Amino acid sequence: MQPASSGHSPAARPSLVWFREDLRIDDHPALAAAAQAGPVCAVYILESGEDLGRPLGGALKWWLHHSLMRLKADLADHEISLILQKGDPRKLIPALAKELGANSVHWNRRYYSWSRPVDVVIKAELTNLGLEVGSHKAQVLTEPWEVKTGAGGAFKVFTPFFRAAQPICDAWAEHAAPAPPLKGHNTYNVHSDTLDDWALLPQAPDWSGGLNETWEPGEAGAQKRLAHFIDKALLGYGEGRNIPSKPATSLLSPHLHFGEISIRRVWNAARKAMRANPTLQQDGQVFLSELGWREFSTQLIYHYEDFPQESWKEAFRSFPWKNDPSAQRAWQRGQTGYPIVDAGMRQLWKTGWMHNRVRMIVASFLVKHLLEDWRVGEAWFWDTLVDADVANNAAGWQWVAGCGADAAPYFRIFNPMSQGEKFDPDGHYVRAWVPELAKLPNKFLHRPFECPTETLRMAGVHLGRTYPLPIVNHEKGRKRALDALASLKQSTTGDLV
Ligand SMILES: Cc1cc2nc3c(=O)[nH]c(=O)nc-3n(C[C@H](O)[C@H](O)[C@H](O)COP(=O)(O)OP(=O)(O)OC[C@H]3O[C@@H](n4cnc5c(N)ncnc54)[C@H](O)[C@@H]3O)c2cc1C
Repeated sequence: MQPASSGHSPAARPSLVWFREDLRIDDHPALAAAAQAGPVCAVYILESGEDLGRPLGGALKWWLHHSLMRLKADLADHEISLILQKGDPRKLIPALAKELGANSVHWNRRYYSWSRPVDVVIKAELTNLGLEVGSHKAQVLTEPWEVKTGAGGAFKVFTPFFRAAQPICDAWAEHAAPAPPLKGHNTYNVHSDTLDDWALLPQAPDWSGGLNETWEPGEAGAQKRLAHFIDKALLGYGEGRNIPSKPATSLLSPHLHFGEISIRRVWNAARKAMRANPTLQQDGQVFLSELGWREFSTQLIYHYEDFPQESWKEAFRSFPWKNDPSAQRAWQRGQTGYPIVDAGMRQLWKTGWMHNRVRMIVASFLVKHLLEDWRVGEAWFWDTLVDADVANNAAGWQWVAGCGADAAPYFRIFNPMSQGEKFDPDGHYVRAWVPELAKLPNKFLHRPFECPTETLRMAGVHLGRTYPLPIVNHEKGRKRALDALASLKQSTTGDLV
């Protein structure tokens, strides 16, 4: 069958690349395949439709705007103009391919339950039109069907998963490749929205000041982050990654989420550094295993389609969660009266990111001390994190709430005071994000409600006025959580640990 649009000689017919969560040029299998076939057209679709995934949160929208701006400029350097369209890709991609008289269409695979059937429909439609279709592995090192247990099923526990995954990661990462020479195609007459049409940036109020100060979205920013991390922070990562006041982690999560850097490049950079410097072996291995958690989370959402919205352990589905809007609000705003929790929630609000150790503490506080459903926290993170990711976010929350695969047991309840004292012993993190407590001595910084009145006065702290009293007493909150678990145990025979 001939493509509907005629008048293009086969040699001049372009290939269309559908950019999705892969907003880069380097090591981009779909772009490379398209470029090998001839001139390239590029499109990004702001997918909108009921069955087209979860609407983007505010921080993701902010990032997307800037990332697309960078990609547009980077592609323009190769005389490729990035077409922007909004709507249902099932209609837009075939229509665009026809309009361009394209020879082939390429994209990199995604693993969401909603996106896979969309890709199948589009592939069938394009094939019917006589176009070649290429879907490529790019977002992960191991596709969910590549790592299997001895019995051929999906892994439910991280350690054996990663043991089986590592050789595949190593082998696949070797294929990382720069973009081949790129040649554009005239798309002058094709409709493209502008980024401003999409109004992705916050207005009235514009809360993005802290995000602007913290991040450089786009491929160049991602490459700088990786180089800086390997050079300055990989050594000591194993220990340092637990100290939230230290710039000891890579801060690559939003870049990886949007695919501004390929996961192969990140894996290879760590491996290369480890080969060159044997003292990096241990720290490097810890870093690789964190990348492994990203792989594990992706295979969870692939094999268990409800994972992003349902407790993976069925027994947890009737957990007696409370639903207290005022407690939720205090948590969101960093006004719980527990300094390490409040510091984390404020860091999140200001920068769109929170340190992993503190994510675990604030999440535990919400689902245990406050007995709020993990999905309440997951939704807040979805709206506020620049790295909000369907797989990693649900996996993180379910891990903390005890209901996920290979999760921390629910009965293990973090004490927010001792967590603060252990991981922020000098109080640098709390002082940075909860400045009203800055003058308290370290001894009371993580437990201001135990501080003698005179010491509070000298530090300018008036509990209940300048800083809240705890919204729940630690011991009572802990007991209430354990009681809730005990009541659930009585009503189910399912797995709760
Ligand atoms: C409740 C909760 C929610 C979370 N939500 C998200 C989320 O929406 N998006 C997200 O990317 N991460 C999420 N994480 C995982 C982790 O906190 C972040 O990936 C990490 O803090 C990002 O900082 P970094 O890039 O400096 O990490 P690094 O320590 O430098 O790690 C390198 C990369 O490995 C991956 N990674 C690290 N830890 C994990 C992990 N536990 N699970 C999956 N991937 C990991 C990330 O891609 C990260 O960029 C969540 C964790 C928890 C406990």
